[in-house]
Amino acid sequence: MKNVNKSAKLNNVCYEIRGQIAAEARRLEDEGHKILKLNIGNPAPFGFEAPDDILKDVIHNLPTAQGYCESKGIYPARVAVMQYFQQNGILNVSVDDIFIGNGVSELIVMAMQGLLNNDDEVLIPAPDYPLWTAAVSLSGGVPVHYRCVEENQWFPDLDDIASKITDKTKAIVLINPNNPTGAVYSEDVLQGILALARKHQLIVFSDEIYDKILYDDAKHIPTASLANDVLVITMGGLSKNYRIAGFRAGWMVITGPKLHAEDYIEGLNILSSMRLCANVPCQHAIQTALGGYQSINELIKDDGRLIKQRNLAHQLLNEIDGISCNPAMGALYLFVKVDAEKFNITDDEKMVLDLLKQEKILVVHGRGFNIKEKNYFRLVFLPHEDELRPAIEKIKNFFSTYRQE
Ligand code: PLP
Repeated sequence: MKNVNKSAKLNNVCYEIRGQIAAEARRLEDEGHKILKLNIGNPAPFGFEAPDDILKDVIHNLPTAQGYCESKGIYPARVAVMQYFQQNGILNVSVDDIFIGNGVSELIVMAMQGLLNNDDEVLIPAPDYPLWTAAVSLSGGVPVHYRCVEENQWFPDLDDIASKITDKTKAIVLINPNNPTGAVYSEDVLQGILALARKHQLIVFSDEIYDKILYDDAKHIPTASLANDVLVITMGGLSKNYRIAGFRAGWMVITGPKLHAEDYIEGLNILSSMRLCANVPCQHAIQTALGGYQSINELIKDDGRLIKQRNLAHQLLNEIDGISCNPAMGALYLFVKVDAEKFNITDDEKMVLDLLKQEKILVVHGRGFNIKEKNYFRLVFLPHEDELRPAIEKIKNFFSTYRQE
């Protein structure tokens, strides 16, 4: 039989978080090793349970959720998202501006497929959440990465963004709070990006899936709340704030001068109809989640589990000679810098594979997030303190003798 090859559309598409390194971890598991997986921001396996009222609501609605629903999503879920936006000061939004998807992931791909012609450019942060880059490539577009600056709280470099805008640029992507860096952007940064979008007539895609996971005095400002005159497409969902990543429930909300985007919105409607609808039972979780008790606050404030784990991971990692990271101000990750000279690092993927083989801990190498530098890794701080402490002890042990050939 002739070889069956993947489509050429996938030639530049990669998603390292679940790629080679995860395959190697599975291979080690098959050999009987126990691997601590600090590679994926998936709260449930670490004992972060979904709020009870959400589970009850989904169960209660199961019998009536057997059929397809309207492509854009069930009405109560879209109303709930609309009201959530209104509460956040975004008034120019209606139920029609909201699409419910099988997680934000599906909507990111849909948004890019609906927008891009071959060679259109999209500005994406580096480091990024790599699905954005992958979705642009899959859609025939060109991801153009702009710099975020570690020394400046990992904020985007506005001059770098400005210098990379061309007549092919269609959009700027923001991830705020940021995965992988944990940055939460100031109003100045957001205004700066909006000013560029305004000047060059670009769409802003604002991925705000971690908008309720904030530490210390961080305050999340929804991008759409700052501009009525820029087309902002905001993504959000239940995977992280409500710890139900497996339910696959997310939304995309279009705000700003929608009249100028009628054709694009028509494209989104076509794509949304083609996948019929998102998982219906789990759409019922959205209204209860957004309108109910926000139990996430117990985890991120005072001596909540998440803030304690962030503090511990940040402190212990920074105590390791040659290792440093900023404290995450939001989300679930630390983006860790490794002294390239001290450890002679020339290949970050090899570094994380060596860590995996020696200490049975899985993290993701920095280049998996589309940076050029080869001396970073991302660690998820979801395990309990009594698992996190020995894990970082093992990372310390690994780096106490590590030197790349
Ligand atoms: N956006 C960001 C920044 C993420 O970190 C993730 C998941 O890790 C997603 C989107 C995808 O989320 P969902 O579970 O809603 O597909």
